Amino acid sequence: MPFREKNGIPYYYFSSLDFPELTQAAFTRRGGVSPAPWGTLNLGGAVGDAPERVAENRQRAFRAVGHSFDSMYAVWQVHSAKVVQVTAPLTSPENILKADAMVTDKVGVSLFMRFADCVPVLFYDPIHAAIGLAHAGWQGTVRKVATATVEAMQEYYGTKPEDILTGIGPSIGPDHYEVGPDVIAEVECAFPDDASALLFSRDGAVKLDLWKANQLALEQAGVTQVEIAGICTACHVEDWFSHRAENGRTGRFGALIGLV
Ligand SMILES: [Zn+2]
Repeated sequence: MPFREKNGIPYYYFSSLDFPELTQAAFTRRGGVSPAPWGTLNLGGAVGDAPERVAENRQRAFRAVGHSFDSMYAVWQVHSAKVVQVTAPLTSPENILKADAMVTDKVGVSLFMRFADCVPVLFYDPIHAAIGLAHAGWQGTVRKVATATVEAMQEYYGTKPEDILTGIGPSIGPDHYEVGPDVIAEVECAFPDDASALLFSRDGAVKLDLWKANQLALEQAGVTQVEIAGICTACHVEDWFSHRAENGRTGRFGALIGLV
């Protein structure tokens, strides 16, 4: 597994996105100050943890990858397919926008999101030096937030989809993601030709492969380079927060991407 560690903060990175001019990380839950059920590196501000602990954890995470916390840009994640074009760090929490993807070509801006089972998708166009980060739970997946991010990079930076390197980060795996009739219907509607490859029956339940669904959404947008971390958060709650495996009482780990 490709992990790095600094100051006691381990983080996963994608081998195919490993460039000196790019910082990218999926932080684990290790190395922070929060007690159970947020133990320990909870980066989520809306899960009941104390704000001062979340602030300390975020400082630690950013410091581990050599980025100033002042470089952060974040959105209020609402399971949409809305993409924000980012030109500068977030100046005040009051200015936060509701969206589920961000793109930028600015050096010194750290795109940052929080996760506990939903899929982090990272984007890098090395030709135009543009990046993106998306949050795809089942809703963002069927709304094709991954596709919308590719389209935003095409529109704003002249990116060619075939040049984009993408990474699908740690998130709930197909073995653990049981879904009900409503979700099944939405997946069949969003992926009419591929639903049978994304939904499968096991142990008397129907399960959804969010990794493959996001890979398909990327490929439908013309992306050819997709690296899947293949790490299931629900299988590894010692390393990752899992909303499903921990019955909603848990924290959020962070994903970050930034040009340096
Ligand atoms: Zn699993």
